[in-house]
Amino acid sequence: MFDLAGKIAVVTGGSRGIGRAVSIALAGAGAHVLVNYRSNEEAAKETLRLIEEAGGTGEALGFDVADSESVETAIRDAAKRHGHIDILVNNAGISIDQLLLRVSAKDLEMTWATNVNGAIFCSKACIRSMMRNKWGRIISLSSVVAESGNAGQVVYSSSKAALLGMTRSLAREYASRGVTVNAVAPGFIETDMTADLPETARQGIVDQTPLGRIGRPEEVAAAVVFLASEEASYITGQVVRVNGGMHV
Ligand code: NAP
Repeated sequence: MFDLAGKIAVVTGGSRGIGRAVSIALAGAGAHVLVNYRSNEEAAKETLRLIEEAGGTGEALGFDVADSESVETAIRDAAKRHGHIDILVNNAGISIDQLLLRVSAKDLEMTWATNVNGAIFCSKACIRSMMRNKWGRIISLSSVVAESGNAGQVVYSSSKAALLGMTRSLAREYASRGVTVNAVAPGFIETDMTADLPETARQGIVDQTPLGRIGRPEEVAAAVVFLASEEASYITGQVVRVNGGMHV
């Protein structure tokens, strides 16, 4: 439906879960996808296998988004190899859930280093190429809890709310250069991140969701592909909520 032929896309945390679905969907629309992973190279290769099986192209690109030098080097080399980077999906994220009184400085630092610093480092590394081409898309994975809040998720929800601030600021900063910057805020989606949720918590989420079920990674990926497309050219600084109506 959407045509991304000739575009080079970087998907951070593309090895598993939502990132995998996003990588497959972008490649399905014709983009060449650089599938980033931190440690699980096998999972990244499986994403690539699925991309190629569906007739798409991509490559695995290992780096830790929280390490600014690794990000710079990996993305600079990729931009040199391909000539340009057109689409960045800031998807890599971690969640360490604790009530406030149990939050440690280390949990806070680790989460913000990946979820917030990582997105800013990757955006910074890609923006030059996008500005040069006067075309770019930066799409970041926030979360329903950035806006609704959730007991036990002060660290995670605050990091995801920070991404909304980043999105709005970058949208204003780069609109004149042809770069749109948006966020996708999923509700609860079936991935490794939510796999350990106890059955009662899972049922509670389903009960709070008007559509009456947990979401699928592909349903989030569809919103990302739209925002990456030419058809979304007049959308910037926005949050697309893919949450089954959980927060309206
Ligand atoms: P997931 O299944 O836990 O996968 C996380 C991905 O992030 C993996 O590919 C992992 O790579 C990568 N990653 C983690 N830290 C990294 C780092 N420092 N550098 C590079 N890659 C890193 O997560 P998910 O559920 O698909 O979530 C994807 C995004 O959507 C996250 O930002 C999450 O906060 C957000 N989100 C998820 C949900 C949900 O219900 N699942 C809801 C709202 C928002 P490795 O494979 O190498 O470990």
